[in-house]
Amino acid sequence: MRQRDLDVQDVGQIAETGAVPAHRRIDEVTAAAHARALRHHEGAVADYIPILASADPEAFGVCVVDVDGGVHGIGDVGTRFSIQSISKAFVYALLCEALGHEEVLDVVGVNNTGLAFNSVVAIELNDGHPMNPMVNAGAIATTALLPGATAEDQWDAVLTGLSRFAGRALEVDDEVYRSEAATNHRNRAIAQLLESYGRIRVDPAEAVDVYTRQCALLVDARDLAVMGATLADGGVNPLTGERVVSAAVCRDTLAVLTASGLYERSGEWLFEIGLPGKSGVAGGLVTVAPGKVGIGTYAPRLDSAGNSVRGQIATAYLSRALGLNIFASDSHFPGGNLA
Ligand code: GLU
Repeated sequence: MRQRDLDVQDVGQIAETGAVPAHRRIDEVTAAAHARALRHHEGAVADYIPILASADPEAFGVCVVDVDGGVHGIGDVGTRFSIQSISKAFVYALLCEALGHEEVLDVVGVNNTGLAFNSVVAIELNDGHPMNPMVNAGAIATTALLPGATAEDQWDAVLTGLSRFAGRALEVDDEVYRSEAATNHRNRAIAQLLESYGRIRVDPAEAVDVYTRQCALLVDARDLAVMGATLADGGVNPLTGERVVSAAVCRDTLAVLTASGLYERSGEWLFEIGLPGKSGVAGGLVTVAPGKVGIGTYAPRLDSAGNSVRGQIATAYLSRALGLNIFASDSHFPGGNLA
């Protein structure tokens, strides 16, 4: 059911987010999470975009940024890599901010496709409706809907917006951009299909070009943690103090990430870690504990669904050891006995 059918438009949202763990505790647990995941060497570096195959498979950084602005990093937290699919989460937030809850829901959708991130079949099965902004069809539609008279204006909105999330001026990795632009036939086909269904109204080639550039933006684990912490902090970047998006947009974006942030493994991820997150094929992973922290990890070896192996292990440790799982609760009555 939708908001208007649920009759809750006039009911204010109460935030019950619990306490931010103590800084020393976050430092200790971050170090332990890194040490634990470092023992793992499973998975393979992505190579479907040729340049990604040259990443150091052992690179590994974990960073936690809390909503008080504390930065807790260990390992390769300053190693830069392309943001890839993680950009989808933040561009989606920018679009929600520009267009609003109802309109974005109508055009892009929020339900899982159950199919691979670059599926064409998913579009056909839904009469050309993209269904979900975390897979390529929905993500390309999202980028194509950004305000701006030209593709350059839309690119400017992406670059400025994601830089505000990160709290610094981000740049494109030209080599990654060119490597993907030369091989992204499937994404171009997806954009043309969306155009044929009237789902995008801009030049599909230009929409894919902006999308490809957004995927090639360079970030590090610390940036991802800051970007995640901004979503954890109701839309205010805890390091710069700047409001990037509204609290309602953060809530909507995190709901989408909770349902579909880790490709076809989103259910397993939620079951084990219990937090909204988004992964990318270059090995980045951002996770958000609302009202508490953002977690950024970088480790390029991926599982078969495209999620960083060490990133998932470290984040699972952090979620458990810092009590971040949004579904976990203790009994309100000590001992659990009501009588
Ligand atoms: N640029 C990538 C693509 O569209 C993003 C892949 C990803 O991180 O899932 O194929």
